[in-house]
Amino acid sequence: MGNTIFSKIIDREIPAKIIFESDTVLAFQDIKPQAPVHVLIIPKIEIPKVSDLKGKEHAQLLGEMFDAANKIAKDLGISEDGFRLVINCGPNGGQEVYHLHMHLLGGRPMTWPPG
Ligand code: AMP
Repeated sequence: MGNTIFSKIIDREIPAKIIFESDTVLAFQDIKPQAPVHVLIIPKIEIPKVSDLKGKEHAQLLGEMFDAANKIAKDLGISEDGFRLVINCGPNGGQEVYHLHMHLLGGRPMTWPPG
């Protein structure tokens, strides 16, 4: 049982368009998409933000999140053209939900620098 809206999605207490699930990772469509493809990839365990990660403890989980991103990008047909992965951390990073999540954005060219 967790505290954030993403924990409620993991526990199926609120609905989401789930597009990938494994024992450790869940991915679902962002409710306010910023691109034709906008998927959130989250660990099932609660890690609030990037600065809480520990390399030795979480290396495998992070690898599984990247594997999920690559699989989803391939499945959704955006792998060849490319895509962007974003992880916001803390207030200045623009993080709103304090359950670690990777944004997979694609289906259009991205601009740089970010806002
Ligand atoms: P961040 O600003 O990096 O914390 O991103 C949080 C993201 O979660 C935003 O892109 C929101 O649109 C998205 N979001 C918030 N609530 C939901 C929800 N119930 N289902 C899907 N995505 C959500």
